[in-house]
Amino acid sequence: MTFVRRAALCSLLVAITVLASSSTQAQSSINWDSLQKEAVELFVQYLKIDTTNPPGNETRAANFFAELCKREGIEHQVFEPFPGRGTLWARLKGDSSQRPIILLNHTDVVPHSPEFWSVPAFSGQIKDGFIYGRGAQDMKSVGLAQFMVMVALKRAKVPLKRDIIFLATADEEAGGLLGAGWFAKHHPELLGKAEFLFNEGGSNMVDQNGKVLAVGVGPSEKTPAWLRLTATGEPGHGSIPRPNSAVNRLLRALNRLLDYSPAVQLTPVVEQSFKALAPLLPPDLAAKYSNLREAIKDPAFARTLESDPGAKALTRNTISVTMLNGGNKVNVIPPVATAEIDTRLVPGEKLDRWIAELRDVIKDDSVKIETVLAFEANASPIDSDLVKAVADVVQRRYPGAIISHPVLAGFTDSHYFRVLGVHSYGFSPFVAPGRELGGGFHGNDERIGQKAFADGVKFFYDVIERLAK
Ligand SMILES: [Zn+2]
Repeated sequence: MTFVRRAALCSLLVAITVLASSSTQAQSSINWDSLQKEAVELFVQYLKIDTTNPPGNETRAANFFAELCKREGIEHQVFEPFPGRGTLWARLKGDSSQRPIILLNHTDVVPHSPEFWSVPAFSGQIKDGFIYGRGAQDMKSVGLAQFMVMVALKRAKVPLKRDIIFLATADEEAGGLLGAGWFAKHHPELLGKAEFLFNEGGSNMVDQNGKVLAVGVGPSEKTPAWLRLTATGEPGHGSIPRPNSAVNRLLRALNRLLDYSPAVQLTPVVEQSFKALAPLLPPDLAAKYSNLREAIKDPAFARTLESDPGAKALTRNTISVTMLNGGNKVNVIPPVATAEIDTRLVPGEKLDRWIAELRDVIKDDSVKIETVLAFEANASPIDSDLVKAVADVVQRRYPGAIISHPVLAGFTDSHYFRVLGVHSYGFSPFVAPGRELGGGFHGNDERIGQKAFADGVKFFYDVIERLAK
């Protein structure tokens, strides 16, 4: 996923809530050293489970969590709507005076190329302070941290106002239809009209000296509009060219799309995300980020901003041509040619409007446009109790850090829940300078710093306790 900057409303940072004394008691009954050590051990076990998607085999991960739930006496259920593609649901009951919180994580991981790894990808090896394994970043680390939060709350018998629902789902790396999508559609009753959801997609900023500059609470993401273009034309022998062949029509259509630059569309959530970063910038740039709508009218600033592909992607719809299919013999002019294009829409954009815009660009009604995959793009509010809870904990834990509101250029499973009215946020509890955080997201030698991971379990606990107690 690609992250970009956002704006934190300073007012969110003003209200610092000191932990109530009862909270301190609950905390004191948790032995954090031993819980963090246990978290690392369980994380290593979890990383050893191969849930490469395809094919997935996420039932293995669901059963792993189910066994742990049994041991802890936590209510749970494994669903396997498709063979091998299990999803686990678990719940800690609160007193229902407030609506539930969902801790969402996906258990599948992307494939890897063993020849580029220095350790086996499912060995869970710990080396030089890093825990290695496919999923160490994306996102078994977050999933296990979420689970340990639930375990800690249960063991310490923390009284909760809200149910805590832990959802470890299959299939996110292939779009989530068999995991989070299936669950949200078939078992909304088990979500208990949740108010909030934590998911992947957060990003934090820490300088080289270890000073925490920003903790991200991501309220939104761009949405995919994957489209298939189909051109038809008269087939024939390659020796007699046909100007309006299927392939030629398709190429003309694609060329028009490649030459086309969709207009800048600043959505409120993207403006907020830039504005939140202003406190971290030198005054001249801070003024521009604080009022992006005005600043972007200056062509020099717009050029600078758009020289960053990540920033550019957030301020407009984008088009990437990714798949082409024409004839299968060099001397045959085929009757049909297709292309698939990965277009991404700014939050709030309407699919029908966008397709109409593309039709105008292509200027050839004989080229059909079909939707392969598209979701509604929603945003969650940045002044919610969840954001305030994170801000409170951050202010105590990392004084002076701001709350940023990254909007993802990519997408996660959060959209399945935002359409149900659940305010959903990207949040990473792992806060460390890059060199201590690890890396290899979807790449080689995926790893996370052991200390960053262990600290993250405690940080996440503090946030959830603040919000649910
Ligand atoms: Zn992920």
